[in-house]
Amino acid sequence: MADLPVYTDADPSLAELLATHPHLSTDPLCGLMLEGVALNAIADALGTPCWVIGANTLRQRLKRMQTAMTDAGLDVRIHYAVKANDHLSVLSIIGQEGYGADIVSGGELARTQKAGIPAQRVVFSGVGKSDAELEHAIGLGIGQINVESAEELEIISAIATRLGKQARITLRVNPDVDAETHAKITTGLADNKFGIPFANAAALYARAFTLPGLRPVGFATHIGSQILSTAPYHAAYARIADLVRSVRASGLAVEVVDCGGGLGISYRNEVEGQPEALAGAMRAELGDLGLRLSIEPGRWPIGPAGVLLSSVILRKEEGLPSPFLVLDAAMNDLVRPSMYEAWHGILPLAPQDFSQPVAPIHVVGPVCESGDTFARDRLLPPLGRASRIAILDTGAYGTVMSSNYNSRPLASEVLVENGQWTVIRHRQTLEEMWQDETLPAPPTGKA
Ligand SMILES: *Cc1c(COP(=O)(O)O)cnc(C)c1O
Repeated sequence: MADLPVYTDADPSLAELLATHPHLSTDPLCGLMLEGVALNAIADALGTPCWVIGANTLRQRLKRMQTAMTDAGLDVRIHYAVKANDHLSVLSIIGQEGYGADIVSGGELARTQKAGIPAQRVVFSGVGKSDAELEHAIGLGIGQINVESAEELEIISAIATRLGKQARITLRVNPDVDAETHAKITTGLADNKFGIPFANAAALYARAFTLPGLRPVGFATHIGSQILSTAPYHAAYARIADLVRSVRASGLAVEVVDCGGGLGISYRNEVEGQPEALAGAMRAELGDLGLRLSIEPGRWPIGPAGVLLSSVILRKEEGLPSPFLVLDAAMNDLVRPSMYEAWHGILPLAPQDFSQPVAPIHVVGPVCESGDTFARDRLLPPLGRASRIAILDTGAYGTVMSSNYNSRPLASEVLVENGQWTVIRHRQTLEEMWQDETLPAPPTGKA
């Protein structure tokens, strides 16, 4: 299994990071800009830490995915994976542009409905859906449920029958292929918890046709996240195609294959996953089967669209081989570096910082964990107290994984659209942090 990437080459320079992030630019007066909006102006107004998402970048990347599919001659629906970034503003863009959503919980389902995405365009994935979540989804007439086990199939049949509904289902098949990504985000190996073992899929699909309340329409697969090579996609789709052929040969209809998400982005200097290559794999393996296809991308469309702004609280250097830059953002805001050893680009905001000599420094947050480290020996200009930076590619798996650890309020969020910026979440207040907590009633009576 592929493990952590081992970087033997030099980190990309600030100029290289700018070149690989076309929605970022520098202005000699305003410094770092996102979609033409000065990030310093946002930080001046709202303080830091603060998340910023570029709506046009999200729109363009989704469009590129759709175009890649259409150009490959494929009929593909895009169901955005809500878990990557579940903000209502993001979901309403998804809905307005005509895309659907892939959800993994009742909470995500409720968000899609609040954001106006029709239930028929929503697909319910997830390895453990509660009865209450299934009842809600089936009651709404959800577009599709991806079934993850034999037991779940029976549960869905019983709930749909009780509600007098027909649930459209696919079986999520575990193709047992190595997505060649980080162990914590690989999902398509036989010993991962996800999906139905390949060898059981055909028999279970046949069983689905015998159960009341179900309308079996096909298969789904999702092999992992941050996938940069097309080989695992080819391998997975080839197996699904075999399954479709053999199931059809036994006389059962297969209308759809849900091809999952997982296309990777360039955090450091990887060549990002290409939607055109994904479309090529789908076409090569599944293109001649007359199927309706769908994909569930999360990270690819929205990851690069977001940055996390932060300020330097102080520099710590006495007696240390490498100094520390202590930020006001921490692992409770962005957990990816401590959870996955993820590498994120860091750019300064001030215009003058782009022309200074760089030197290695550790970039850390103030949380009481050594794992609260964003970067080690990162080459940065001489930043100090009150300097600001942007941590790049935080649009996906950023805010959604934030916590209040160390009683740190959730950061504010901003949407940039057509040269304007709007607050889409105010910084959590201290009261909001504990408003749902109650104290036990004081003891009454005598012992
Ligand atoms: C997480 C997930 C996705 C999205 O993965 P990305 O790597 O963000 O594209 C899609 N489908 C399912 C079932 C998932 O669990």
